[in-house]
Amino acid sequence: MNDVIIIGGGPAGSVLGCYLSMAGISNLIIEGSIFPRAHVGESLVTSTTRVFKEIGFLPTMEREGFVRKYGASWHAPTSREFGIDFDPFPEEGIDQNYTYHVDRSKFDLLLLKHAESLGSKIYQGVRVQKVLFENDQACGVRVKMGDQEVDLPCKMVVDASGRQTILGNQLKLKLKDPIFNQYAVHAWYKDLDRGSGITADWIHIYFLPIERGWVWQIPITDEITSVGVVAEREIFKQAKLDLESYFNKYTQTNPDLVQAMSSATRVNEFKTEGDYSYCMERFVGNGYLLVGDAARFVDPIFSSGVSVACFGARMASEVIRNGFELDDFSEATLMPYEKRLRSGVEIWYEFIRLYYKLLPLFTHFIQSKDHRQQIKRLLQGLVFDREEAPVLQAMRDYVKAVESSDHHLFKAHLAAVPID
Ligand SMILES: Cc1cc2nc3c(=O)[nH]c(=O)nc-3n(C[C@H](O)[C@H](O)[C@H](O)COP(=O)(O)OP(=O)(O)OC[C@H]3O[C@@H](n4cnc5c(N)ncnc54)[C@H](O)[C@@H]3O)c2cc1C
Repeated sequence: MNDVIIIGGGPAGSVLGCYLSMAGISNLIIEGSIFPRAHVGESLVTSTTRVFKEIGFLPTMEREGFVRKYGASWHAPTSREFGIDFDPFPEEGIDQNYTYHVDRSKFDLLLLKHAESLGSKIYQGVRVQKVLFENDQACGVRVKMGDQEVDLPCKMVVDASGRQTILGNQLKLKLKDPIFNQYAVHAWYKDLDRGSGITADWIHIYFLPIERGWVWQIPITDEITSVGVVAEREIFKQAKLDLESYFNKYTQTNPDLVQAMSSATRVNEFKTEGDYSYCMERFVGNGYLLVGDAARFVDPIFSSGVSVACFGARMASEVIRNGFELDDFSEATLMPYEKRLRSGVEIWYEFIRLYYKLLPLFTHFIQSKDHRQQIKRLLQGLVFDREEAPVLQAMRDYVKAVESSDHHLFKAHLAAVPID
């Protein structure tokens, strides 16, 4: 019998497999598709380096020549650009001032292979149908192999099934986000003009003149660039356009983006992403826990997803190790994981809400001597195991001041996003 069964071989599942194998805990990762498979979420944040280093994956990232990401840049519709580089990276023990942009089909395959090399057993092309329970305690999974249903027992089940949220659906734990209901249309392009100089390979975000609308530009290789249009789902619905016309309409609304895309040619089909931004009612229960997107998903404006998956897996491995030491996999034993994950992701969520509440505030804070360093720490993904970030309170205070003033320059930019 396997000690732990992990549902899903994305970053959350693979990283967890690595940590568990390193701790001598046997684990089986069951992945529904056959890798390589395409996936959204191509730009990482610097904090992931810590996890890659701990699991011995950093040499692979370097060897494979993923595009290095040294910073991020935001483009207002007025053609003003606001950039931030990741140098210096203030975390002890991490000596890289860059992270990576990744082709997820390649990155996820390498990470899964890495987990296998450390000891995880891997099934690919096998879907988990449900998690099995005995007296309120998860005790295994049911999979479909060919025509046959097979029950696989284990001591602990981890749901790392991403936005398919298998356990969240089974136990009806999903709470839709009350504010965000975004929709993304994206594709890869060649001959996109990324400019020259140090910012050419940064992530570029273009603001659109629509509610919570923005476009990402992420370099995948020297030739290929990923471009995605994100906006409220309602805007997509009301546009009543096919994907190409919708995409073209909105990429025409930011002059810097028009310039970047003037000679660009699409090289693959458009893909769409909806139904994101949610939180599960709980992340742990007797004999199970949820990690990565299976637990919580926040809007991707700051490229936080893979980092949250990696750190979630790291924290999950600690409580699981503790569970094996005590031979106790109860909800109470696993709960410290939920608390740590919740408070870290809450910082991302607050940051995202304040960002959407008042866009000019974000660009103002990036440029401010007092706040730039703290904003940088957030953008690097340093959100776990810390008290609330003071810069968020400063942003909140600023929003309140704008709200209560009659003549503030930013007043017209306040969005209908609740921040309390
Ligand atoms: C529009 C958009 C843009 C994004 N941009 C970024 C970005 O720039 N940077 C970033 O870091 N993140 C980004 N993300 C988020 C990122 O995609 C996720 O946070 C990340 O992939 C989470 O990893 P995971 O391992 O939890 O889930 P996934 O990567 O989704 O992996 C889950 C795996 O589980 C498998 N699975 C599902 N159900 C079953 C089953 N029943 N049985 C077996 N296997 C199963 C799936 O096949 C999949 O391989 C973005 C997300 C969206 C929607």
